[in-house]
Amino acid sequence: MDKIAVFPGSFDPFTVGHESIVKRALPLFDRVIIAVGENAEKKNLFTIEARMNMIAKVFEGDSRVVVTRYSGLTVEFCRSHGARYILRGLRTAADFEYERAMGHMNWKMAPEIDTVFLLTSTEHTPINSTIVRDIIKNGGDASMFVPAVISISDYLGK
Ligand code: ADP
Repeated sequence: MDKIAVFPGSFDPFTVGHESIVKRALPLFDRVIIAVGENAEKKNLFTIEARMNMIAKVFEGDSRVVVTRYSGLTVEFCRSHGARYILRGLRTAADFEYERAMGHMNWKMAPEIDTVFLLTSTEHTPINSTIVRDIIKNGGDASMFVPAVISISDYLGK
């Protein structure tokens, strides 16, 4: 049976921190599904299509990475895709507290699905989509925080 991991998130926008987590997870799994959340309550800078397109560009040519949108419970999404693992990145103690609560609750709802955490590499620890969005909104250069193939201006307002 294929080992499939779901990497759920807002990815608004997808950063080099996210990219590094996916790349480091690839030797551990047969397939990684990057699941872009459609959370109507969140005020996103990039549309769901823009976020999916920018991520697809990063992993173009690697058939083990699949990019898809999702809404609803992450564990239900995993079940419907035959995924037994949820992949998450951990930067700080604050991340840990939030992820621990979510991981435990997901585990209660779906004991057959494990959450796998990868510690962020040291150089990516400060990178945070919220701050990257602020830089973009204020006309700053965010290119060093997103994968090199992503040209942010191509995705704004799309
Ligand atoms: P969410 O709204 O689900 O928190 P994010 O897009 O902010 O969505 O994050 C998705 C996942 O990526 C989370 O597990 C988060 O901890 C992780 N992540 C965010 N930024 C980084 C980074 N710089 N390095 C590694 N992992 C990160």
